[in-house]
Amino acid sequence: MARFRMYPTPMQKAALLEQCGHARYVWNLALEQWSMWTRDKVAVAPNFAEQCRQLTGARAKFDWLRAGSQTVQQQALRDFDQAVKNFYAGTHRRPTWRRTGVHEGFRIVGPQASRVVKLNRKWAAANVPKIGWIRFRLSRAIPDAKSYRITRDRAGRWHLAFAVIPPPIPTPGTGEVIGVDRGVTVSAALSTGELLWCPGFSDLEQGRLKHLQRRLARCQGTSRRQRVKTAIAKLHARAGDRRKDWVEKTSTNLARRFDVIRVEDLRIAAMTRRPKPKPDPEQPDAYLSNRRRAKAGLNRGILANGWGLLVQRLEHKAAGRVEKVNPAYTSQTCSACGHCVPENRESQAVFRCAACGHQANADINAAVNIAAGRAVSARRGATKGLAEA
Ligand SMILES: [Zn+2]
Repeated sequence: MARFRMYPTPMQKAALLEQCGHARYVWNLALEQWSMWTRDKVAVAPNFAEQCRQLTGARAKFDWLRAGSQTVQQQALRDFDQAVKNFYAGTHRRPTWRRTGVHEGFRIVGPQASRVVKLNRKWAAANVPKIGWIRFRLSRAIPDAKSYRITRDRAGRWHLAFAVIPPPIPTPGTGEVIGVDRGVTVSAALSTGELLWCPGFSDLEQGRLKHLQRRLARCQGTSRRQRVKTAIAKLHARAGDRRKDWVEKTSTNLARRFDVIRVEDLRIAAMTRRPKPKPDPEQPDAYLSNRRRAKAGLNRGILANGWGLLVQRLEHKAAGRVEKVNPAYTSQTCSACGHCVPENRESQAVFRCAACGHQANADINAAVNIAAGRAVSARRGATKGLAEA
């Protein structure tokens, strides 16, 4: 993804927001159709082609919809179709309602997406259907892409992002294998012993965030609330930019240094999903703890650390060199002798083997296991068979 900051004029901003509204309207209609179908299952859910026919009908009937771009509206349907496929494939969560002010964006594909010109060294412009030429800042070379997406973040910034897959980085050819363990306190531990932290909020920003959140809670009046909300969104946007930057640098670095990169095979979507309520077998109406609080904390950590994004970028840059390892028992298995018991994990940070006394940083110990790619065969209580692998 190559992202550029876009600077529309006030009139263009209004026109862009209108297009965002159309895309959102179409998406939400498709979602409504689909969720009614998943609930009742009375007939076959309308597929993408059928929805496109319905869209044509709706455009003929409603002037305001016809005033918008057909590409934008049809693409919203296509995006929704993809979201449903991703949901059934288990890689993504269920598609959700698009909301005003939160989900502002649309996609342009096909020949219309290639109408981009460079104005000078610092500026370029894209010809957006039904709006015209909008300038964007050239922070890097314009990539050769077949589609782009225009979005407005919660802080009110407009961006234009080309969907490009970065070119693969050549293999160093050293035969070296690296294991990467993701964590919440440490973002990534490498089997070489390196610990990497993904930048989040600085102490100063954290203080400001708390202050703003307190102010929001006390705030009276819509416009004042909106101003505080925008300030909070700006903080989040800045932290998000830093996170993305870290992911790009880290993935490039790993792809350049190592031949094979082994990561845990985590279905992020499954992990971040809300845990199921666990009924108490003794009392009919009571529920046991499902460790929801603990999981919520972990979810935040995973999302904040951008783990899913890191693995995705690695798979682009080190295409065919990323291996996913079953993460079972990687944190409780000794990387020196293979002894595997929960007691090995002395604390969140320290690993001490109960059998051979090997002591290490718990995350690095796990990373070494992942690098060996041998956790798959590990069984609880197994004391042998791992070291010689
Ligand atoms: Zn040991």
